Amino acid sequence: MQVIVIGAGVVGVATAHYLRVAGCDVTVLEQLDGPAAETSFANAGQVSPGYAAPWAAPGIPWKAVKWLTQAHSPLKIRPDGSLFQLSWVARMLANCTMEAYQRNKGRMVPLAEYSRDCLRDLREALDLQYEQRSLGTLQVFRTAKQLEAAQRDSDILSAIGVPNHLLGAQGLVDVEPALARVPGKLVGALQLPNDETGDCKMFTDKLAARCEAAGVVFRYGVTVERLLAANQQIRQVLLKSGEILNADHVVLAAGCASRALAAPLGLDLPVYPVKGYSLTIPLKNADAAPRSTVLDESYKIALTRFDSRLRVGGMAEVAGYDRRLDMGRVATLAMVTNDLFPEAGDTSRGEPWTGLRPMTPDGTPLVGGTSYSNLWLNTGHGTLGWTMACGSGRVLADLITRKKPEIESSGLALARY
Ligand SMILES: Cc1cc2nc3c(=O)[nH]c(=O)nc-3n(C[C@H](O)[C@H](O)[C@H](O)COP(=O)(O)OP(=O)(O)OC[C@H]3O[C@@H](n4cnc5c(N)ncnc54)[C@H](O)[C@@H]3O)c2cc1C
Repeated sequence: MQVIVIGAGVVGVATAHYLRVAGCDVTVLEQLDGPAAETSFANAGQVSPGYAAPWAAPGIPWKAVKWLTQAHSPLKIRPDGSLFQLSWVARMLANCTMEAYQRNKGRMVPLAEYSRDCLRDLREALDLQYEQRSLGTLQVFRTAKQLEAAQRDSDILSAIGVPNHLLGAQGLVDVEPALARVPGKLVGALQLPNDETGDCKMFTDKLAARCEAAGVVFRYGVTVERLLAANQQIRQVLLKSGEILNADHVVLAAGCASRALAAPLGLDLPVYPVKGYSLTIPLKNADAAPRSTVLDESYKIALTRFDSRLRVGGMAEVAGYDRRLDMGRVATLAMVTNDLFPEAGDTSRGEPWTGLRPMTPDGTPLVGGTSYSNLWLNTGHGTLGWTMACGSGRVLADLITRKKPEIESSGLALARY
């Protein structure tokens, strides 16, 4: 069976791997020069099923109004002039009810947990090293009100079987000793011991190399122009160069470009580009840096330890396909780093980056079939694409090769819209 995967981000490469393992002949088409060159390039490094939750949650509309007026705000909204932006925001707001939140989280958590387990198996089977750590994540709180609210989160996590610990000011220092250097700044934390961290780009590069060795064909620097269809079936893939390719199945894993590629087929993928930023800082004092991921709840910024670097990432800008690097946002990342880990590294030597998260209004990715018999989607992973990539790739490979996925996948398909 011949399968074309469009996109060599972490999601496309993971899909290619599982398809190859299932015996398919796989070709990956990527417009850039190598794997993980777009949104999978410098994300915040969290593999975090514990935080697998939609942004659309009860109370978010009010919080958003507050954030929009705040300096160092985690959220910005700028009209991009499209009706799609308005409808996407409206759909997201409609998902802010408790009922929708529970339904969406109920789809996201099993996929994220399964994905972490797939990642662990893959790492072991292929001996992949990507500066990974299995030390959990620590969400830190600056106010008693945040800590109080975390009790609710902790109860929900416990109810769905996700191990977690609510910690006071001393407890959090036991987990992340470098925070002892900023006494009085934090009142408590929520620790998720089963979460992991690692460099997504490094993982994707290494997995792509293994796939290639196993017979997957990667074609870099080729742009898919259009999918040619007849009778609800993809017949051919047209490249920008004019070349035409044939395949039995096509997987759309093109991140934020997936929507535009699907639109001529009459498919409306509600995948909006939500911009984020990161800063990668070389460490000068490893003892003064976090051991794993620390998530600052006040600024919604994650600080993740790699071997000799600190990756600081966060923020959400709902402002269209705008890839400009706003240095004001980068300054916020540096401010939070210097505030929590003042001696860890020199933020002025950090490498800034911005990426567009392919995000659905309900936070759940699109993993599954379409109304075209041989067109499959693996996109829309938003804030959790690194966390969910392996599980999504495995589920989709199972669906394409007509094997029953190991987790319930019906709620992940486009049909829910
Ligand atoms: C600041 C920031 C922090 C983040 N932190 C985390 C985190 O800590 N944990 C986590 O789980 N997730 C995180 N994410 C989200 C995660 O990075 C994304 O969900 C994930 O990278 C999406 O992967 P992807 O493969 O779907 O998309 P991409 O990596 O964007 O890959 C899509 C690929 O398709 C290619 N493509 C597009 N159009 C075409 C075409 N026409 N022809 C050929 N190729 C095409 C693109 O060039 C691209 O390489 C973060 C994101 C950001 C921005």
